[in-house]
Amino acid sequence: MAIRLVLIIIFVLSCVFLIQKYKAMRSQKKTRNITEPKILACADCGVYIPESEAIRRNGRIYCSSGHAKNHEV
Ligand SMILES: [Zn+2]
Repeated sequence: MAIRLVLIIIFVLSCVFLIQKYKAMRSQKKTRNITEPKILACADCGVYIPESEAIRRNGRIYCSSGHAKNHEV
């Protein structure tokens, strides 16, 4: 009887472990989609750059401070 109880406990624990691993994998996929970088086009030369590297001036997007200066008045 005791061996059977231990086997049941091991089975239940392994099930819980697999479910947690599966959930972690699913949430990783979700966050990967959210953190995917947004690509923006430079208002001066039209080059595509990730949002994190973009320079914003007067509501426009530029690839570099040099191109931002080209549009300054
Ligand atoms: Zn540019």
